Amino acid sequence: MIDFRSDTVTQPTAAMRRAMAEAPVGDDVYGDDPTVNHLQDMAAEMFGFDGALFVSSGTQANLLALMSHCDRGDEYLCGQQAHNYKFEGGGAAVLGSIQPQPLNNQLDGSILLADVEAAIKPDDIHFARTRLLSLENTIGGKVLPQEYLSQAQALAFNRGLKIHLDGARVANAAVAQNIDIADITQYFDSVSICLSKGLCAPIGSILLGDERLIAKATRWRKMLGGGMRQAGIIAAAAKLALTEQVDRLAEDHHHAKLLAEALYQFDEFEVDIKAVQTNMVFARLSSHIDPHYLSQALLQKGIKISPSQQLRLVTHADITSEDITAFLASLKQVLSA
Ligand SMILES: *Cc1c(COP(=O)(O)O)cnc(C)c1O
Repeated sequence: MIDFRSDTVTQPTAAMRRAMAEAPVGDDVYGDDPTVNHLQDMAAEMFGFDGALFVSSGTQANLLALMSHCDRGDEYLCGQQAHNYKFEGGGAAVLGSIQPQPLNNQLDGSILLADVEAAIKPDDIHFARTRLLSLENTIGGKVLPQEYLSQAQALAFNRGLKIHLDGARVANAAVAQNIDIADITQYFDSVSICLSKGLCAPIGSILLGDERLIAKATRWRKMLGGGMRQAGIIAAAAKLALTEQVDRLAEDHHHAKLLAEALYQFDEFEVDIKAVQTNMVFARLSSHIDPHYLSQALLQKGIKISPSQQLRLVTHADITSEDITAFLASLKQVLSA
């Protein structure tokens, strides 16, 4: 199968499976797992934070960050398209009594800082207390400019807000700009990073923050049932995600470019090649083609896509340049049938 649905489908590497088999482990709820502790120390050091917490998923990392920055009756500002607003089941509201204040995302994924300013509520009993600005990088495969991050940080600081990054794919953002991940994370009070997407770990995300935030997050994680025991088994793979998989993302970005340029040649697709900055290609399918027909026909040829008129194709470690060529050949056959 060639699977373009997401980079979450990546299989753990052979090195990861070996490391998992051999990892020294302990009970992480007691803080006894040496592999988890090593991963957390390594991540904190790599990304310039006091502390790091290994958690089950990106959704959990974001939820812990929101619940650790905000109390009941507080609010966070985020994009309408933010994963931690739109795709996380309303967890902050359901479990944290925290109100989201979504703001429009611009075409480049940013939120206008003037919109952020205007959304900060005065200290008045009518309003939720605005506590946090939450950004996402990459967002829809797009990289937020470094200058924008710096301005957002300054705004947050001047207005007494904390600033969080949903950095599920921050490694892609760093590789695309040829900078260190720490060059991006430096602007934030907390960051969540997915290790189970393009970085190939089977399970897990990292939450970064200062000591106080990590202590609070550790308490919430336990309450949410996320305290794991011999978690070193999965932390062993997560370590390799950070040490061996980051640079490789450049290949995924190259493959996404190749794919976008090829799809651009099809009459049936509308593609903005310049918008392809990392590992995602968005292609609008002509209205006369049923996306469900297309996905079913491709499935017969061993190719998985998520059916949508606005197709999202994601490149990752388990898609080679030969797979891209095979996909394009199958696509031609299906569309001319
Ligand atoms: C995938 C993703 C998450 C959530 O990660 P899960 O591990 O799937 O819970 C959060 N934010 C963004 C931007 C993501 O792409």
